[in-house]
Amino acid sequence: MVTVRVAAVGYLNARPLWDKVPVAMPEASLSLASPREVARQLAEDEADVALMPVAAAAAFGDVEMVPGIAIGARGPVRSVVIVSQEPIASLSEIALDLSSRTSVVLGRLLLRRLGTAPKFLGMEPGEIASQVAGSRGALIIGDAALALENKFPHVLDLGQAWFEWTGLPFVFAAWCAREGRIDRAQASLLARAKELGLEERGRLAAEYAQASGLDAASLQSYLHQSIRYDLGDAERAGLERFFLEANRENLLPRAKVRLVGDASAQVAVPEAIDSLLSRASQGERLSAAEGERLFTEASLHEVGAAADAVRARKHPEGVVTYIVDRNINYTNVCTTSCRFCAFYRPVGHAEGYVLSREVLAEKMQEVVDAGGVQILLQGGLNPNLRIEWYEDLFRWMKQTFPLGLHALSPEEIIHIGEIENLPVETVLSRLHAAGLDSVPGGGAEILVDRVRKVIAKTKCRSEAWLSVMRVAHRLGLRSSATMMYGTTDTPRDRMLHLLKLRELQDETGGFTAFFCWDYQHEQGTHILPSQTGTEHYLRMQAVARLMFDNVDHVGASWVTQGPDVGQVALRFGADDFGSVMFEENVVSSAGTTFRIDAAAIEGRIREAGFRPARRNVKYDWLTVPE
Ligand code: SF4
Repeated sequence: MVTVRVAAVGYLNARPLWDKVPVAMPEASLSLASPREVARQLAEDEADVALMPVAAAAAFGDVEMVPGIAIGARGPVRSVVIVSQEPIASLSEIALDLSSRTSVVLGRLLLRRLGTAPKFLGMEPGEIASQVAGSRGALIIGDAALALENKFPHVLDLGQAWFEWTGLPFVFAAWCAREGRIDRAQASLLARAKELGLEERGRLAAEYAQASGLDAASLQSYLHQSIRYDLGDAERAGLERFFLEANRENLLPRAKVRLVGDASAQVAVPEAIDSLLSRASQGERLSAAEGERLFTEASLHEVGAAADAVRARKHPEGVVTYIVDRNINYTNVCTTSCRFCAFYRPVGHAEGYVLSREVLAEKMQEVVDAGGVQILLQGGLNPNLRIEWYEDLFRWMKQTFPLGLHALSPEEIIHIGEIENLPVETVLSRLHAAGLDSVPGGGAEILVDRVRKVIAKTKCRSEAWLSVMRVAHRLGLRSSATMMYGTTDTPRDRMLHLLKLRELQDETGGFTAFFCWDYQHEQGTHILPSQTGTEHYLRMQAVARLMFDNVDHVGASWVTQGPDVGQVALRFGADDFGSVMFEENVVSSAGTTFRIDAAAIEGRIREAGFRPARRNVKYDWLTVPE
């Protein structure tokens, strides 16, 4: 019977730590994945202990490390490098391997020390090396870096640069577990696996040399000299210094190294909520665990006041924006059958529709007549609509009406790619060329796969949703970020959702704003609500404002909560009142429909003590606030 679920990074440098896990822990299951995926498994309770990037441990905030074991370096590490054709300090862009957040944060810190702040472009590992040209360098991690040794004229070895800066070892990864998940006995079994695995380094290097074609002696040296496998006092000091430096730059939450079985940590008094609120209201980056504490322990008034302080600092003009646009659901035919959705109709259903050009034209003309600036176009996943249909539609819309086109959520983009057998980047590029201006953040629901599997079994997984947004941002398309909570999600799931969006925002800066709303449970939906209602909504929005130190705007969701709650939400961190909605079929199909016009929105904003201004999708003011 499996008693411990172990997850580890598959890289060569990690292998001495997990190779003998089946021997030392015969009752454990062992799965291998990328550093990012391993961290996700720990966070989402798919693993009990994970060999994962230390930066992810800091971001989660409730993680203990197994003492004595790590993957680190005291000097050159060889497998975490920035490479380029031109001098590193002159680079204008860095293509980032997103596999390990630790390396990404360390790279940012070291480049800032060099006095350079290149633009970072997040990419999948296989795409990175080909990106190096001119003033564009690349951060390459793991086995890929070993394969590219001596291939580029300029190399910044991050382990060496850290050591030259601090005189301390650097720790890239460690065995991590959520608090209380493993005990000292299990930690000692991992130590035994390490002991056995280190004795196998010669064999592991030889096997890898044969499989990869790399030089065996060089790999021997890598595993014996470059990589250090200890987590002792010196490594702990290096790790604490890394957390400190990253927190100073607001790249990571405040973090301390906590070890499994550390008696002093177990009796440590948790930080007072007042202190946490104070740090949050000053804009300090919070961990998922800290966000969860604010969500569950702070009073509604206090968390709202802290969010309002952040809103006031980010938007000192006292202006609340809104947009005049229209949500058009161009088709309700959908193959996905989300359990929370009362809007869709399966293929062939008598009530299935695709809006005609005549109907679309009528709706868009009404928007133009009302002084609107944009169409929000979303629909079901209709297998009968090909990419040419969308391209023709977008060209016609843009040629006929002076309106922005905020269209197609990531799920729809993925769907088009699947039926056309095209990569997401090609789909987005073609649609962008045809007139797509920005991408709505719909379909995110909760970006935790356990929840997604329950509420929307066939919808894309969280990493796929984020990946579409990453590509969109890289192509210059801005997007919103959203959350629909209140199904089977827990407060922790909600915080992990915010964390994933925040990390992508660190990479791309492409999200303009965040909106959240609770699940609308009505006839036609097939899942019971949990933790919904006004108080939860206000708390959720306020905590999101506190977690999102890197997102400029938070919008009040009056369409689902009603205008009264929307108005109160302006004192819980929101600086935007959303949209003058002409219609919103997905929500109104579930029974929730509020409509107010622009004059009423402006009245609500003024009553709350702010000056209203109309905006566009980029949040530029289109009217002078009065
Ligand atoms: S929420 Fe969207 S993807 Fe899910 S069933 Fe409804 S229309 Fe389809």
